[in-house]
Amino acid sequence: MSLVRPGGLCYAARMLDVTPSVPSSAQRPANLLALSPEAIRRRVQDLGWPTYRAAQILRWLYRHRVRDIRQMTNLSESERSTLSAGACIRHLDQGESFTSADGTQKFLARLEDGLPIECVLIPDDGRLTLCVSTQVGCTLDCGFCLTATMGLKRNLKAHEIVDQVLMVQSSLPRGMRLTNLVFMGMGEPLANWEAVADAVGRLTNDQWGVGFSPRRMTVSTAGLAPRLQDAQALGVNLAISLNATTDALRNRLMPAINHLYPLRRLLSACRQLRLKPRERLTFEYVLLAGVNDAEEDAGRLGHLLTGMRCKVNLIPFNEFPGSPFQRPTDAAVEAFQSIVRGAGLDVFVRKSKGRDVLGACGQLGDLPSVTQPAVLTPAGACS
Ligand code: SAH
Repeated sequence: MSLVRPGGLCYAARMLDVTPSVPSSAQRPANLLALSPEAIRRRVQDLGWPTYRAAQILRWLYRHRVRDIRQMTNLSESERSTLSAGACIRHLDQGESFTSADGTQKFLARLEDGLPIECVLIPDDGRLTLCVSTQVGCTLDCGFCLTATMGLKRNLKAHEIVDQVLMVQSSLPRGMRLTNLVFMGMGEPLANWEAVADAVGRLTNDQWGVGFSPRRMTVSTAGLAPRLQDAQALGVNLAISLNATTDALRNRLMPAINHLYPLRRLLSACRQLRLKPRERLTFEYVLLAGVNDAEEDAGRLGHLLTGMRCKVNLIPFNEFPGSPFQRPTDAAVEAFQSIVRGAGLDVFVRKSKGRDVLGACGQLGDLPSVTQPAVLTPAGACS
């Protein structure tokens, strides 16, 4: 039996407490990416440099994605060596990537503490969307989601979220750019609110940040009602994973979140959001055969959402080994869609991309290593 777990730490070493010694953070130079923009401004001030140096450094980090302080050529050589004495640039440790037959690419990376994370690049109709993770594992326990089976290992820090974007953008051929970002990978973004808000700030800042338009970013939540307003204030699109139309069923499918914020509370928080002109909410609905895909469910869904400025995305269930649910037939999905449409709502069926590399919605997470090689195909091996 292999002693090396997907988590990367040698299991035997952990049991014997002989993990390789990593210098403590006090000894290691600070990672500039891990510092908040304010911390970089303070550092610049402490060094007695003019304030604009901070924006220059930030621009090198987020715009130009340099990997070494020596590449910051608008700082003098002596400034670069002063900065390098106490700081460096450490990116995620990029691992393998897996390409699906439909062109979707799943990227693996390792955090500084060895934990693995995943993000997924989805090319579609001229768009290039990156789906990023916000937690290792997830706070929640939704029964249809593979990530939930991991439990929560830890929250990602702001720079670990942003770095997924930098890593994938850097791996694209010249001239190709990400067009959309969705916070729909591993984790519940609104349960890691501060890091997510900080990451959105670094990604959208147009002076020194990545410069992404917030209108091209979507944060998906299982429904942390009290955080919706703050999330909306970031200017990003919001997607709410409804997945059931009664509390009885939602309590079964999404117990943790629905016990905290049942449907009525969640929908009333949604109705109170002040949407900008042309802005609308997205409601996501995972279709599980024989569980939430009946005509009555479709009728109730239409009824619950009538009058709200929203659209509905239906996501036919994506299977993963050991999951208790099944994907409905295409005919059942169409029938469901036409009933919801009949209630006057815009309703779309989301194409499930990347299923063969376990890169689709709800398929991210650590499977027992025995199942991985059978399901995953290394990048380049797919035509
Ligand atoms: N925690 C957040 C974001 C991660 S899940 C949320 O709940 O919204 C992103 C989307 O994938 C959600 O709409 C979720 O309901 C859906 N999802 C989870 N598991 C799935 C699966 N196995 N098949 C299809 N969609 C799934």
